[in-house]
Amino acid sequence: MTDATLVAGVLAGSRRDLAKAITLVESTRPDHAERALQLLEAVLPCAGKSLRMGVSGVPGVGKSTFIEALGMHLIEQGHRVAVLAVDPSSSRSGGSILGDKTRMERLSLRAEAFIRPTPASGALGGVAGKTREAMLLCEAAGFDVIIVETVGVGQSETAVAGMSDVFVLLQLPNAGDELQAIKKGIVELADIVVVNKADIDPAAAELACAQMRGALSLLRPGSKSWRPPVLALSAARNQGIDGFWRLIEKFRETQQASGEFEAKRRRQALAWMWTLIEAGLASRFKSHPAVRAALPELSVAVESGTIAPAAAANRLLGYLNHSSL
Ligand code: GDP
Repeated sequence: MTDATLVAGVLAGSRRDLAKAITLVESTRPDHAERALQLLEAVLPCAGKSLRMGVSGVPGVGKSTFIEALGMHLIEQGHRVAVLAVDPSSSRSGGSILGDKTRMERLSLRAEAFIRPTPASGALGGVAGKTREAMLLCEAAGFDVIIVETVGVGQSETAVAGMSDVFVLLQLPNAGDELQAIKKGIVELADIVVVNKADIDPAAAELACAQMRGALSLLRPGSKSWRPPVLALSAARNQGIDGFWRLIEKFRETQQASGEFEAKRRRQALAWMWTLIEAGLASRFKSHPAVRAALPELSVAVESGTIAPAAAANRLLGYLNHSSL
């Protein structure tokens, strides 16, 4: 298959070609890198038209149950839904997003859905480095709601929030749970907080909502037109999903009206370019022959205090001046 056929397939909405295109983008082979860039260039004019939603929460909070319920609801309304799962713990056995084959079974059977785990590490640009590109490909393939899921560990939240229009934090209806999320700095990222499993004990869920609202009111608002709402629902019983989606639509309308929606996307695109530049520079630096030759000795010298870290860094960086990057 030529790359032109692949592009045409993606643009025609073929899930098979979309999967192939994402595999190409994720590849670490140097000859694939150039093709992947061309592919992204070719589809870019058709990307960007979706709503990008990040979903985070600790393992067991009900992310996949929630995304499946939401996905089915959206499909009923005529949307096409892509789910990209970023899992920084995927290399460990157990508890990983990718390990559990039974996740989102109903949704995965639907032609209007596309579900794909993306490798979290090893990519240029760090955690979720390739997820952003996969997202653009999904958009080009006509998926108009992209859900990027991540577990509540590592720096993946920040990475996913940095590529989302709206970031949703799922919480358990446990007293004090909000303190955990606050401590980790995740609450600041949230545009909407959902307390899931409200069916188990509705009163406890309401209390958790009230505590979360209290906690949110202490934070500096991240948007001038939006205060993050907190709502309780039950993903497993499919209760509250429609209300949640109405909130998302309200978020989009409010943010579009204030200009913040587009401004955020522009900021994110530019930040992503810089992330890639910095990652590219670091990678070229580390693989530069002169740097590689001098690094072990200079590292020992820095450790033993015979050379100042600044002097060592200066010398190593100097090697880059003597040759083209
Ligand atoms: P994830 O690890 O965050 O993706 O969580 P899962 O979606 O796999 O859900 C973890 C467990 O919680 C599963 O046994 C679900 O059936 C259960 N669960 C998810 N949502 C709800 C809910 O709204 N109510 C109840 N009672 N259980 C739920």
